[in-house]
Amino acid sequence: MQCELCGNECSGRCKPAMVDKVKMVLCPRCIQYGEGVKEIQGSPIHVHKSLVRRSNRLKEKDVYEKMNIELISNWDDAIKDARKQKGLTREQLGFNIGEPTGTISKMEKGELRPSDKVAKKLEKELNITLFEEVKKVTPQHTSSESQGLTLADFIKKK
Ligand SMILES: [Zn+2]
Repeated sequence: MQCELCGNECSGRCKPAMVDKVKMVLCPRCIQYGEGVKEIQGSPIHVHKSLVRRSNRLKEKDVYEKMNIELISNWDDAIKDARKQKGLTREQLGFNIGEPTGTISKMEKGELRPSDKVAKKLEKELNITLFEEVKKVTPQHTSSESQGLTLADFIKKK
């Protein structure tokens, strides 16, 4: 039998435990990461979750950094104002660019970030600029260790 977290052989010593709502068989060394510790603030599992969230955000930003072109920060208002100026309803705008009305209203509320394709269609349709050129973006990666870190890696590093 192997520990499902670190992969170490642990015949006879492995115990089932809940890790992050997933049932896993853990060796005595990893059992501390199972059910019972996750309520403790700053436990390894909490740290790991925030690392994942942060690296996901960075990944999303990276796409735009490579192109040195970013969506303007107030794209939601820019879309709404331009649409109103053109006297279009959300339905009409959606029809014109081939997107559902729900997509338009979510974008105007800032709930949905328009994809490059949709943003370009909006720029053309509404005669606005949704992208801005970013001169030089300093990488925001405070720690490269947070990139693609798995729970098992995290524990190994300790
Ligand atoms: Zn283990």
